[in-house]
Amino acid sequence: MKVLKFGGTSVGSVENMGNVKHIINDGHKKVVVLSAMSGTTNQLVSIAQDIDAGKLNDAIDKLNKLHETYFNTIDTLLSDALLNNDVKNYISSIFELLVECTYKDFSETIENQILAQGELLSTYMFNSYLKQEGIRASILPALNFMRIDAFKEPDIEYIKEHFENVLDNAEDSEIYITQGFICLDDEGHISNLQRGGSDYTATIIGAAIKAEEVQIWTDIDGMHNNDPRYVENTSAISNLSFEEAAELAYFGAKILHPQTVTPVRKDSIPVRLKNTMKPDAHGTLISKSTSGNGIKAIAAKDNITAIKIKSARMLQAHGFLKKVFEIFETYQTSIDMITTSEVAVSLTIDDDKNLDIILAELEKIASIEVDKNQSIVCLVGHSVVNHQDTYKLFQILQDVKIRMISYGGSKNNISLLIDSKDKINTLQKLNDYLFELVTL
Ligand code: ADP
Ligand code: ASP
Ligand code: MG
Repeated sequence: MKVLKFGGTSVGSVENMGNVKHIINDGHKKVVVLSAMSGTTNQLVSIAQDIDAGKLNDAIDKLNKLHETYFNTIDTLLSDALLNNDVKNYISSIFELLVECTYKDFSETIENQILAQGELLSTYMFNSYLKQEGIRASILPALNFMRIDAFKEPDIEYIKEHFENVLDNAEDSEIYITQGFICLDDEGHISNLQRGGSDYTATIIGAAIKAEEVQIWTDIDGMHNNDPRYVENTSAISNLSFEEAAELAYFGAKILHPQTVTPVRKDSIPVRLKNTMKPDAHGTLISKSTSGNGIKAIAAKDNITAIKIKSARMLQAHGFLKKVFEIFETYQTSIDMITTSEVAVSLTIDDDKNLDIILAELEKIASIEVDKNQSIVCLVGHSVVNHQDTYKLFQILQDVKIRMISYGGSKNNISLLIDSKDKINTLQKLNDYLFELVTL
């Protein structure tokens, strides 16, 4: 069986839902993972922030507007009076629950409950739409099988067992629809796989059922060689290895959740990225095969904090790095990039929730310098560090102030740390020159 995931834009309008129907209605049984309609999760985040800040009237205003938007969509989507009525009742029950959340004491669980409603709405609507169109569909509730452990990692054994159970008990259907993004945590509270997490849901399910293929349908024709939100003249890459795709996703290519590739890599389950609005375009195939040489794609990750840890006694002081790493481990903060010299080590983090306490601990053993608002620019390609043209990178970037370089950590990746204000210029410069210099 294949797993097909459709993102926010793909289910964001009645017209696009029609495209999705055509794509999935090919006579083969499949699992279809849906995101919330585009804009909904952002709205829910903003409503949760209003509630947290005590701005209850603003929250209620936003809820009323969103409720109305959903009713309008249903009137266009569902001409069948019974289905129309049923879905409107469901939508109203969700919005009642959301209004109730405005009266409660705000907590992480309340926030997660608010954020989860977008996927519950889109799946219920789309399932009814397929029914209206005479397609045998049913919903597999994600909260009955999708679960993360105490380290926020998917609990694969639990998911496998419960997914099979849910599937066995579902009404026999052509299309099994489920919610992306949402899950339970290790204590059974509602949680999620972080923003953009529906991609991750799809590959987790793909791994659990050993799917033939996972397809991620979105609003662009596959992984581009640079970030199309900031750079002109980018183009789609037809093939990527798991390693290359994982690096790009982790280092900011928004088309994929950072962890998307992790669950399917071990079993080499291919992942295909496709455009819902242009289903005939080739898209990108992520698989175990490698192709091309040199720099294939560039991605950038923002909101990076760089920390320089300087100690005169670091030289020949074995155990110094261990002490440094232990501090980051204690405060569950992962390190992205690292460079060392005789007297200092520079490293970067993207989660600065525990920055103050980490700095306080580090100051006990070294002197510290912190630079915020940094971006990691990541250049990815098969064996990119060995390519004969890679040196030209430094000529191209001679005017850019590079704060750190990581070269050789993996043969497929070169990472540069720069000030975020230089990011767009750097990406465009690399785009203009690099892809002409290398053999793809
Ligand atoms: P969905 O809602 O379908 O999950 P996303 O907005 O999460 O879609 O991801 C698709 C978007 O990712 C594209 O519209 C594009 O703007 C952005 N993007 C960023 N980097 C890349 C890249 N390297 N290749 C393709 N798209 C990218
Ligand atoms: N709806 C969620 C979000 O906007 C999950 C997703 O779209 O993948 O982050
Ligand atoms: Mg996404």
